[in-house]
Amino acid sequence: MSGIALSQMTSQQAIALEDKYGAHNYHPLPVVIARGDKAKVWDVDGKEYFDFLSAYSAVNQGHCHPKIVNALTEQAQKLTLVSRAFYSDTLGSYEKYITEYFGYDKVLPMNTGAEGDETALKLVRRWAYDKKGIEVDKAKIIVCANNFHGRTITVISMSTDPDSKAGFGPYTPGFEIIPYNDLDALAKALEDPNVAGFLVEPIQGEAGVVVPDEGYLTKAFAMCKEKNVLFVADEVQTGIARTGKLLACDHESVRPDVLILGKALSGGVYPVSAVLADDEVMLTIKPGQHGSTFGGNPVAAKVAVAALEVVKEENLAENAEKLGKIFREEVRKIDSEMIELVRGKGLLNAVVIKPKNGKTAWDICVKMAENGLLAKPTHDHIIRFAPPLVITEEELHEAIALIRDSILSF
Ligand code: PLP
Repeated sequence: MSGIALSQMTSQQAIALEDKYGAHNYHPLPVVIARGDKAKVWDVDGKEYFDFLSAYSAVNQGHCHPKIVNALTEQAQKLTLVSRAFYSDTLGSYEKYITEYFGYDKVLPMNTGAEGDETALKLVRRWAYDKKGIEVDKAKIIVCANNFHGRTITVISMSTDPDSKAGFGPYTPGFEIIPYNDLDALAKALEDPNVAGFLVEPIQGEAGVVVPDEGYLTKAFAMCKEKNVLFVADEVQTGIARTGKLLACDHESVRPDVLILGKALSGGVYPVSAVLADDEVMLTIKPGQHGSTFGGNPVAAKVAVAALEVVKEENLAENAEKLGKIFREEVRKIDSEMIELVRGKGLLNAVVIKPKNGKTAWDICVKMAENGLLAKPTHDHIIRFAPPLVITEEELHEAIALIRDSILSF
């Protein structure tokens, strides 16, 4: 389809409209996408790109996966929303499917990742008061520096990122921030008997794909158990096959007490998030204490089941594991002073860029876009590379060639 206009609108018109009528809360690359299929997208002029962002790992199953889109359209013609005021003929089957899939007693369905995190925080606090016996309003949750859990007020209260946090106070109390990948700091923080939970990303995605030392998660989990503290994993970005296993915690055989999922839970076709936990934790929340009009709606339920089926049917975790190794190996071979470090797991990878002659990670991303590959810098000097997990080995090699040419052009 390359070269054939796909939209009535030019790039300039689309960008001008967003600029004039939309809030300026993002800084997108100047590319206007009109179509997507598997690992590729096309702009309004029909120019083809490899998508190496996958909507921040929401499109793991590939753009417009026919099975997931069919689930969406079929259900959308029958029933879209009843709210949780009534039962539906779709929610229970989804709840059975997802809890068996991940091995938990119960699920609490929500819509966005940030809502998933908020839900987990409420569950931890409630469990702290009802089960652990912490004095009301005294519960503390340990989180890590450079985390990213979304952008609601409570979630930014846990953040150390001045861009998302500064200027939005007052903040929600009850959090202690410790350095990531630092077991001594965790041990010290866990000495406080009011600690109820430890919330952690098994790999810090937005921080720049920061992979902790091997054994960090296992030891952190064991330390939490010793202190009767809930281990809460935010797998919104790392989960659902992205890192080469179904969950990033699976690399260390850690089963979180509370698991937060989002993004690829719908394959990117619908906002679906979920919090999974066993009865002892989940049943502390009673009717009326938490919820969402759209959470667990019939379309979301059908879409999520289809999206999870695709992950298994198409062996996406295995593909991510295999192609991730090739990606890191090949990118490490690129002979450029601008590449300081290549790191990641599965198909969640990042390249740390050293600027050269004033050219930064942003300039490399602009050049890659010109050459037909989309990726986005995080924190100025890091480029994340996270293609849909349906990408083939042949496509991956083509994409690596585009990355190589783009970097070597500086
Ligand atoms: N948690 C993690 C680890 C994330 O990476 C993100 C988004 O990037 C979120 C939570 C927030 O998800 P959402 O943007 O759907 O609210």
